[in-house]
Amino acid sequence: MIRCTCCGEDMNYNDETTRITEYACRQCHNVEIVRKKSGRSAA
Ligand SMILES: [Zn+2]
Repeated sequence: MIRCTCCGEDMNYNDETTRITEYACRQCHNVEIVRKKSGRSAA
């Protein structure tokens, strides 16, 4: 889980695609896109 860079709230994430994960803050609606890199997993 990551936190919103704007307000520090925990962000929901949408993992529908295999290439990106989309995080959305439910409080201020800030959105962050994180690209997944094949062969490397987030520890
Ligand atoms: Zn926020």
